[in-house]
Amino acid sequence: MSKILHRSIYAKLPIAVGGRGIELFDADGKAYIDASGGAAVSCIGHGHPDVLAALHAQLDKLAYAHTGFFTTEVAERLADRLVADSPDGIDYVYFVSGGSEAIEAALKMARQYFVERGESRRRHVIARRQSYHGNTLGALAVGGNEWRRAKFKPLLIETHHIAPCYAYRDRSDAESELEYGDRVAYELEAKILELGPHGVIAFVAETVVGATAGAVPPVKGYFRKVREICDRYGVLLILDEVMCGMGRTGTLHAFEQEGIVPDIMSVAKGLGGGYQPIGAVLFGRHIYNAFSSGSGFFQHGHTYMGHPMAAAAALAVQNVIREERLLDNVMRMGELLNRRLRERFDSHNHVGDVRGRGLFRAIEIVAERSNKAPFDPAQKLNAVVKREALARGLMVYPMGGTIDGARGDHVLLAPPFTVNAGQVDTIVERLGDALDAALSKSG
Ligand code: PLP
Repeated sequence: MSKILHRSIYAKLPIAVGGRGIELFDADGKAYIDASGGAAVSCIGHGHPDVLAALHAQLDKLAYAHTGFFTTEVAERLADRLVADSPDGIDYVYFVSGGSEAIEAALKMARQYFVERGESRRRHVIARRQSYHGNTLGALAVGGNEWRRAKFKPLLIETHHIAPCYAYRDRSDAESELEYGDRVAYELEAKILELGPHGVIAFVAETVVGATAGAVPPVKGYFRKVREICDRYGVLLILDEVMCGMGRTGTLHAFEQEGIVPDIMSVAKGLGGGYQPIGAVLFGRHIYNAFSSGSGFFQHGHTYMGHPMAAAAALAVQNVIREERLLDNVMRMGELLNRRLRERFDSHNHVGDVRGRGLFRAIEIVAERSNKAPFDPAQKLNAVVKREALARGLMVYPMGGTIDGARGDHVLLAPPFTVNAGQVDTIVERLGDALDAALSKSG
């Protein structure tokens, strides 16, 4: 009997004993195609020799040095690399150990930025419903998934949630995509005005929504409008790219496809590709300058921030992505995956939407295509799909979403950037079989 408290205390999980390329192996020797990269983490697959070599070399040199005493060569090189590869406006880096820590740091950085500038009155954070930013209390507070928040509400800082940009569910037939994007972006302006422009710190959003809704890209123009509105009222734009960033959508940062740059952003999962836990906050010179000309100190920190082993893993992973030209493969295989998903599911009675960008794709499962009605959440269809997929040697990331109280099921795919055409075909074939089996079992 396991002594580890898993998320579900009733879950009987297989024991993972190995991983190679896009496959994981359990103790019985069964192979699983990692079509979700775990939770959109394993961006170069498992067991890459370059990363293993870099980790061994770093371990031989130095495993740990506290950032209160030292910086390290490897963390400096990683920071230089991240800034050099990012668009203008992303100038500095703050390392942490994961996605939730990155969001916590981003929120505190935004608040302290205004304190440094003598604008201590600013205290409100605006975020979106149907979003996920992590499970620590600050991250949970800005997240918009009521199911995750409900039990902990009395502990959460007040956050103001507005509509997500979710065209499949929200756009009316009478609206163009542009009109729809403008309408939801103006909810931000209305909320800022309601709260008083000088009271708002930041707007937080996932550039492409991940876990809660399943690879939902913004409509064209939405983030440009959001950026304009933030600028008009001096509100900081924090983009959470913990899941959709670091190449997953085909560009290093997903926001590059929106023609905007955030003030602050969070990255994690694909940064270290699962070889070590690492996350980062990336931000602009204006933020840095407020700190350097103010207190000279960001009042935050964690024991393991900038960990040399984590930095070595991340640097090696990013080198592999560059040397093997994997972002080109993300674009190519992403298009193929989209095509195959459409061929398999466009006329499926219970798939309402196929969406996403690059190798970040999802299908949304509906009881009724014509009115987009979700299945009864009590059926836990997403969990049945996961089980059926695992039985077929396929790892996918299914979830039940929450849209203003109404739940729907979706299945997220986020395979490693190394996936090839044959593997894309197998993923879609197994997913189709798993979905059909789950639907027939759910009656
Ligand atoms: N932000 C987003 C968009 C995420 O998808 C996640 C995790 O899924 C997090 C934050 C939290 O990251 P972590 O689980 O590493 O704390």
